[in-house]
Amino acid sequence: MHPDDTPAPAPRVRCPSCGTETVFAPANPWRPFCSERCRQIDLGAWASEQFRIEAAPNADPDGHEPPESA
Ligand SMILES: [Zn+2]
Repeated sequence: MHPDDTPAPAPRVRCPSCGTETVFAPANPWRPFCSERCRQIDLGAWASEQFRIEAAPNADPDGHEPPESA
């Protein structure tokens, strides 16, 4: 028997979202993520980062309004 003839097992990758080791194969439709949930989390993080960049110029540097004199 030749050990090298055995088919290589499905490659494994770490989920970019949660770091869980998951199989990178057609059996995993969410690859390289471990699940649909992690894929959604990653897409959501990307979207919110884009939104934050666009919203940044509008942010108040002081973070509060000056007190009004009565
Ligand atoms: Zn994950």
